[in-house]
Amino acid sequence: MALNGSNERPTTRTRTDGSEDEHSSNAEPNRSSTVWYQDGSIVLQAANTRFRVHHTILAKNSPIFGDMMSIGEPGGDENVEGCPLVVLHDSAEDLETLLRALYDRQYFDPRKTQPLSVITPILRLSKKYEIQYLYDDALGILTTEYPDTLKGWDEKFQRSVPAITRYAGLSFDVANLARELDLQSLLPCALYRCLLQDLERILDGITDPETSHVLKLSPHNQRVVMLGLPKVMCWSMNTACMWIGEGMQEMKQCNSKKCKRGFKGMSDYFRSAFPRSRALHRWSSKWDHKFCEKCLEVVKPRYEERRAHFWTQLPVYFDLAPSDG
Ligand SMILES: [Zn+2]
Repeated sequence: MALNGSNERPTTRTRTDGSEDEHSSNAEPNRSSTVWYQDGSIVLQAANTRFRVHHTILAKNSPIFGDMMSIGEPGGDENVEGCPLVVLHDSAEDLETLLRALYDRQYFDPRKTQPLSVITPILRLSKKYEIQYLYDDALGILTTEYPDTLKGWDEKFQRSVPAITRYAGLSFDVANLARELDLQSLLPCALYRCLLQDLERILDGITDPETSHVLKLSPHNQRVVMLGLPKVMCWSMNTACMWIGEGMQEMKQCNSKKCKRGFKGMSDYFRSAFPRSRALHRWSSKWDHKFCEKCLEVVKPRYEERRAHFWTQLPVYFDLAPSDG
């Protein structure tokens, strides 16, 4: 990563009336309150907000920004405080988030829990402007929470803090984002987690209690999840539950009442969740005590084998290309 060696820090913003900033839009453009470096050498404008930054820093991190004057709509001869003005076709909020992430590691630290509202614009614009390390960091956070391997899925439950700030409807937003940016590796897990929601929520969305905004799956994702549901349930029977029947068959010489109760209890546990699937539940150490040693030797590996098989089928349930996970 290279933010170059100049170590500039944000200067205290001085408000001016910006009367020299006459631009084509009706309203007078605003100066960003967070990204305005007094020693910056270029001014970017998105919607009605301007950002004063350093051309060298942008160029060092992004080949697209390196050729800055050839993108967007350069304001012709227009200068802002002696800096060339470049107009970009991004939302001001998205660009501000990207620039803050580029300049300030405290603002976007992938080692800490990050809100999706920060990850999304970073991912979207780092892809567009080819800022590879920010793209990798943002995608890495999403992959931690929506892994593309069963190992990653299991590790997710061992983390003490989530990679992404949780809220109801997070999986809907991630599934929609994965479609928007064609992030195929996130889709199987994200769609599966959508499918674990109540049907009502899948169909009608989830209302944010604070903003009353309704978070909904895109029509495409909604359709795929609804069509995937019976497939997942069917395969749950063949993966999460079939091992029970096979185990019972294989261990029928075991006359222990404990094991009979164990098989029955496990069967009830997995079936009682329907129409939700428990097929990816990790084996619990509490279940060890439900069986005699011999039965456990048969049952536990069978369970893991079936669970792994279920995972590999996830893309199939949602009509996606098979993954290597
Ligand atoms: Zn037994």
